[in-house]
Amino acid sequence: MRDTVATPDLDRAIGFTIPARHARGRLVRLGPVVDQILAAHAYPPAIERLLGEALTLTALLGSTLKDAGGQLTMQAQTERGIVKLLVCDYQGGALRGYVQFDADRLATLGANPSLFAMFNQGYLAITFDQATTGERYQGIVPLEGESFSDAAEQYFVQSEQIPTLIRVGTRRDADGKLIAGGLFLQHLPDGEEGGERLHSRDDHPEWEHVSTLGGTMGSDELADPELTLETLIWRLFNEEREVRALSSVALSRGCRCDTAHIRQVLAKFPVEEREAMADDSGLITVDCAFCARGFPVSLTELASEEL
Ligand SMILES: [Zn+2]
Repeated sequence: MRDTVATPDLDRAIGFTIPARHARGRLVRLGPVVDQILAAHAYPPAIERLLGEALTLTALLGSTLKDAGGQLTMQAQTERGIVKLLVCDYQGGALRGYVQFDADRLATLGANPSLFAMFNQGYLAITFDQATTGERYQGIVPLEGESFSDAAEQYFVQSEQIPTLIRVGTRRDADGKLIAGGLFLQHLPDGEEGGERLHSRDDHPEWEHVSTLGGTMGSDELADPELTLETLIWRLFNEEREVRALSSVALSRGCRCDTAHIRQVLAKFPVEEREAMADDSGLITVDCAFCARGFPVSLTELASEEL
């Protein structure tokens, strides 16, 4: 039997907890949002898949922020790798991301390059910014493992000592568009609100049970838009006494590079510096790497802004 839905379940994150097991989870599925982000660029398939996976992780972790105005940023970087820089961020359900890479060297790798082949020795930095308190927390781990999600899992295990399971799956639909899905599970003995997070014990039977079940989730299920996220939760945990569904978050593609914002930033520069930034026709062009486009602002417009 197959649980199908009339409308594909896409561009959404949902949270849940399993109180008796002291576990929390998130599920994410991305479709048109990834497509819109990729449409600004002309990335080869391997980079599209990598960014799709990174965006899914960003949505999984970003949707755990309790602060609605908070931001989560994932940045992967290398010195000698083919992929030089990957940046994704999440704020209030809005996602964006881009990748800088050496196209010629990437072309020598074939269709399915390994993480190591792309990044060589890279690092993954995950930054949590809380809007209300202004607190910022950043952790950095080596980019190791089979996939980006392995590295993110290590981030929690190594730098936060929280038992964590992360799975991400991607696939192409009939039109060749990328669909990505992800599962995030964590053992939080003190509940969602946290408290003392360090684990003094090494054995966590409740967590082993939850992570064993979570580990059965296939990447084909995660990236199947015909299976609702609720169906996936049911498939994994239907024998649990209680699974509490948390909020569902609609995901969108969003950037903060609008012309009004850019004008505000430029207006803060002294007149001489603005003139030095402008071209012969009196235009300052500010590039947005996320959108892969330039925003021209004229010096006369800026001058009138100050009045
Ligand atoms: Zn932008």
